[in-house]
Amino acid sequence: MQDSKLTDRLLSVIENDILPLTERGVDSGNKVFGAAILRKSDLSLVIAGTNDETTNPLWHGEVKTLNQFYELPSPPPTSELLFLSTHEPCTMCMSAITWAGFDNYYYFFSHEDSRDSFGIPHDLKIMKELYGLEPGGYRRSNAFFTAHSIVQMAEDTTGPTHEQLMKRIDAIRHRYALASDTYQSHKNATGIPLG
Ligand SMILES: [Zn+2]
Repeated sequence: MQDSKLTDRLLSVIENDILPLTERGVDSGNKVFGAAILRKSDLSLVIAGTNDETTNPLWHGEVKTLNQFYELPSPPPTSELLFLSTHEPCTMCMSAITWAGFDNYYYFFSHEDSRDSFGIPHDLKIMKELYGLEPGGYRRSNAFFTAHSIVQMAEDTTGPTHEQLMKRIDAIRHRYALASDTYQSHKNATGIPLG
């Protein structure tokens, strides 16, 4: 599979399937993080989800999506699936993805983006406090999974495709900045432990 085709599809899922859920979720006080699961074979969507920490602080976008996935009548084997996370997963979520048997995840925003652009430093803080890891210090490629940066995949393309993908990335960043403003404007009222 060409990387540009995969990159295009992952961006479409963020734009059309995850972001609309997240834009509603932040209105209810939830964080901006979302996720989706796709089939490797044809990149069709299995399920998309978004953060629901106002219900349960463990329901990060990834964990919530995994819960919904396992509630499907017959969820496909995870070896046949791709995991898309809008933000590089926290330690809980990367473990959940691992325990569920995925051999991959694809993320849009990095841990550093979560800290610097979203005012949410907890991923990096937990890695440092629990495991002594500096930013970028965990193994993105390991015996369980390979983590892929969608933005890096877009940056690696060339020609007109490159320009189109980078334009869409800018537009996605803009929509997330607006959603983040909504979240930050009322996060103190939500009671989420690590807001
Ligand atoms: Zn998480």
